[in-house]
Amino acid sequence: MINGGKYDLLSCSYNQISAYVKDVLHERPFRADQLCRWISSGKSFEKMSNLPASMIEKLKQTAVLSYPVIVKKFVSSIDGTVKYLFSLSDGEFIESVVMQYEHGYSVCLSTQAGCDMGCRFCASTIGGKVRDLLPGEIIGQIIVAQRDLSIRVSNVVLMGIGEPLDNYDNVLQFLRIVNSEKSLCIGYRHISLSTCGIVDKIYRLAEEDMPITLSVSLHAPNDAARSDIMPVNRKFPLDVLLRACRDYFDRTGRRISFEYTLISGKNDSVSDADELSHILKKHLGKRPFHVNLIPVNAAGRAGIPGSDKRAAERFKRELEARNINATVRRTLGSDINASCGQLRHSQGAVKEIVT
Ligand code: SAH
Repeated sequence: MINGGKYDLLSCSYNQISAYVKDVLHERPFRADQLCRWISSGKSFEKMSNLPASMIEKLKQTAVLSYPVIVKKFVSSIDGTVKYLFSLSDGEFIESVVMQYEHGYSVCLSTQAGCDMGCRFCASTIGGKVRDLLPGEIIGQIIVAQRDLSIRVSNVVLMGIGEPLDNYDNVLQFLRIVNSEKSLCIGYRHISLSTCGIVDKIYRLAEEDMPITLSVSLHAPNDAARSDIMPVNRKFPLDVLLRACRDYFDRTGRRISFEYTLISGKNDSVSDADELSHILKKHLGKRPFHVNLIPVNAAGRAGIPGSDKRAAERFKRELEARNINATVRRTLGSDINASCGQLRHSQGAVKEIVT
């Protein structure tokens, strides 16, 4: 992985780093392991204290380690959720959120700078996609957060800015690296990928032999309502999407998770719950699946009214009465604009922060 004439080591797999250590640095194999350990802990070349000075010199000449740089950090006074605004080597901005659960720390990562999917309630899509993130820019968000907070992250969700399946190859390389025992060694079962529903890529992902959880953003129980808030539905309507979800389960055995953002008066009525349970049962039958209800965070877009917690609880009861497994997602970090894209956007022309 060469970036600007130098090896982008954060984006490299262990095998690629081993080949680089052998062929470019002419060092012995154990140096690759040492290098990987330093990279995972977020150190710069100068701080790699068990490497010989000559190797560090060659590393500086031939490689880069472009960890995201913390521009702003917000800590929720309600629940301790931490949100970072990071800048990348070209001055682009992205966000990540670290949440503490009973079972450990979970981090929500961005996969693109901006997003082209155009969901009406989502702040990430304002201004469209600027560019895809490199694998190293995705894993770098975890490494820097771990170093900053002195923690070990146990769960990863690809639910920050961007559509992960619209950056397929880089996201796949990221998944392989983060799972590797030479890197952060996070199990696939502890990783969720959230998509707005790019069906051809869901089929591709099912063939990768990577038991991550697929999380599908549904947000509406029929095509008319879904196309209205999610343009992707015009290309991949609900029938096609839910068939892909069924096939994903049949291929991988992984329970599908559906995200359903409740928008007051738009998709949160009893008849919406009824229609949703019908369409899910029609396509998934007795297969296990789960619906995650998210009260919309209205800070996203104009004209999108926030949905209250009571409406979410009512919607959950309606689904459960129809034997659908559902939970209302805890809204963490509501005082720090923790929904994806809100921070990048709420800064207006975000670039002004650093100039
Ligand atoms: N592009 C992917 C992942 C990023 S969005 C996807 O669409 O799934 C992660 C989740 O947050 C999605 O379910 C998205 O619909 C939801 N989301 C976006 N903006 C939101 C808001 N303002 N309030 C609540 N949920 C929101």
